[in-house]
Amino acid sequence: MYGCVMPSRPPAVSREADVVVVGAGAAGLYAALCGARSGARVVLISATPLAQTASYWAQGGLAAALAADDSPELHLRDTETAGRELVRRSAAEILVREAPECVRDLQTLGVRFDADRFGQLALGLEGGHSVRRVVHAGGSATGRRVVRQLSALAAEEPRVTVLEGTRAQALWRAEDRCRGLVCDDGDVITARAVVIATGGAAALWARTTNPPGSQGIGLLLASAAGAALADLELLQFHPTAVIGLAGREGFLVTEAIRGEGATLHDARGERFVDELAPRDEVSRAIQRLLDTTGERSVGLDMRAIDPAHFPNVVAALREAGLDPTRELIPVAPAAHYMMGGIVADLHARSTLAGLYAVGEASCTGLHGANRLASNSLSECFVFARRAIDHALSGSASPRAAPGEAELLALRALPAPPLAQVSTRQALWRAAGVERDAARLNTLLEDPHPLAQLIARCALARTESRGAHVRTEYPQRDPSLDHRHAVVGPGNAISWQTWT
Ligand SMILES: Cc1cc2nc3c(=O)[nH]c(=O)nc-3n(C[C@H](O)[C@H](O)[C@H](O)COP(=O)(O)OP(=O)(O)OC[C@H]3O[C@@H](n4cnc5c(N)ncnc54)[C@H](O)[C@@H]3O)c2cc1C
Repeated sequence: MYGCVMPSRPPAVSREADVVVVGAGAAGLYAALCGARSGARVVLISATPLAQTASYWAQGGLAAALAADDSPELHLRDTETAGRELVRRSAAEILVREAPECVRDLQTLGVRFDADRFGQLALGLEGGHSVRRVVHAGGSATGRRVVRQLSALAAEEPRVTVLEGTRAQALWRAEDRCRGLVCDDGDVITARAVVIATGGAAALWARTTNPPGSQGIGLLLASAAGAALADLELLQFHPTAVIGLAGREGFLVTEAIRGEGATLHDARGERFVDELAPRDEVSRAIQRLLDTTGERSVGLDMRAIDPAHFPNVVAALREAGLDPTRELIPVAPAAHYMMGGIVADLHARSTLAGLYAVGEASCTGLHGANRLASNSLSECFVFARRAIDHALSGSASPRAAPGEAELLALRALPAPPLAQVSTRQALWRAAGVERDAARLNTLLEDPHPLAQLIARCALARTESRGAHVRTEYPQRDPSLDHRHAVVGPGNAISWQTWT
């Protein structure tokens, strides 16, 4: 049990919808709008204000094969190279094929992406991409621009009921199907489909680029209702988070800045890594250097970069007292993106009927062992649309609201817990850029259920692959190629190959 039962509550309100979407980041907002466009009645609930979603903080942009010298095949190749023999090809194929159409759809919804002087979309280059393919807005303010526009549309849309400041406390499972959910104020929402879009779990680690709410709440909700989770050991560390600046700890300096020529330097001023290598390689190179020298950070030299191209990064650094046009920025790796999540198929269906998972909360397998930069926003849009299309194509109708006894039981279900500081520090120590069994074992006693599951998956993967590095198993084990660690009923772990 996660928490305690509230002794008394006001009478619950029961709402009925075609779809209830949990989370109002990029994935949730777009899912809600797609649902409304198809004529569905949608309830969209969000625990936090908009500015506290990872989507709002996204800087670089969305990857889509739009350039004349690009193609979905090339995008697929880069995605698979970064993902290290763990990318589920069918899911990645969908992403690369459908991302350009999502960019065009966002434009029709009023999102204004940056254009070059010929009026064509300006495409950025990021680590791991072999060509320019990252669509951005406001320089490095992509997430903010996209989320603001989509949330304005959702607020105006009569078919979407937005419940801000409301948390999903537990999912309602009846007759082996997800039928809706109960909110933290006791309200019950019944629906044909529930779409989990609650974001990732990187804020479970003490040093993170993510907003505090990104603690894998949706994973715990889904798992408590009986849906499977997978790949929890696969957590990407971003190489260039700002370190040691009061009020800006963990602030991410986008990869796109390295794409434009920013370089990394050790304490003697020497370069020590290919700055455009995939994130896991760059993170590891930095962390190893820091472990050897005992320094806290390396220097990011962006003095040659035009500040006008990255106005919000430059402004944030200046606010914190650093002038990136004159001095090096102290950076180090931080927990950034969880490749694992709620197991989802090519229509974003979880293993529980009626329950869908999209965005960072989901695990379709498309990122493999290491996400290619800027594939995640694209994934939010591509799979949110698929989830809605599938959910509305089915014949399931919402069940009548639960009866009194069922309601009481539902409202007594405990909400997933937030992690204590001690759990966050323990994850950073034991499941950081490099792991080993001795340290991972210490997490098995942690009070947070997801910390335990992360440790168990990391212990099971006795190899190094992509973002997951075990010091006692420094090589990739080919027998684990395309094998995903799936947490099923009773939290048992099994290996699965997904087609
Ligand atoms: C600093 C930063 C920069 C990034 N830059 C990029 C980039 O340039 N390109 C890219 O592709 N990716 C980037 N990423 C990753 C990307 O932003 C995320 O993967 C993506 O935005 C996740 O979107 P989401 O909709 O799944 O979740 P989020 O945007 O995190 O939204 C989660 C939502 O769920 C809600 N929620 C959580 N729990 C509950 C609950 N119990 N009940 C109700 N609501 C709940 C929250 O309130 C929130 O509204 C970046 C991430 C960070 C942190």
